[in-house]
Amino acid sequence: MISRVYGILPVWTIFTEKFLPQGRAGQCYGIFNVIKPASRGDKGIIEHELVHSRQWYRGLGVFHWLRYKYSWAYRYRAELQAYAVQLTHYDEFSVSRMMLFAKYISETYDLRIKYDLAFSDLMIEYERISDD
Ligand SMILES: [Zn+2]
Repeated sequence: MISRVYGILPVWTIFTEKFLPQGRAGQCYGIFNVIKPASRGDKGIIEHELVHSRQWYRGLGVFHWLRYKYSWAYRYRAELQAYAVQLTHYDEFSVSRMMLFAKYISETYDLRIKYDLAFSDLMIEYERISDD
């Protein structure tokens, strides 16, 4: 599946079990996103990875990767953005989904962020993009 970010820049989404880190439903590799086949119908996950593709283009590829890898603050902002956008792609808002995403953010990205802070920052980011 081909998508466009910023109107013109292409991103290819591939549905496969390969190239996915253990336990992950999706992974962004710049212009290629990998989503596990079971999540093919999950627009939220697809859009989450497309946010990272936008970040990748905006960060000129390698600079995004370096910042994502070496700056926990950048990685935190990148994931808050991606999860906030993901939340907007489900039929209805769900606090339990937001709690689940805050848990992922605080536990699975090697961040020094406690759950409560991840939850409130995710709420703020979600409200910020929902106001647009
Ligand atoms: Zn992400």
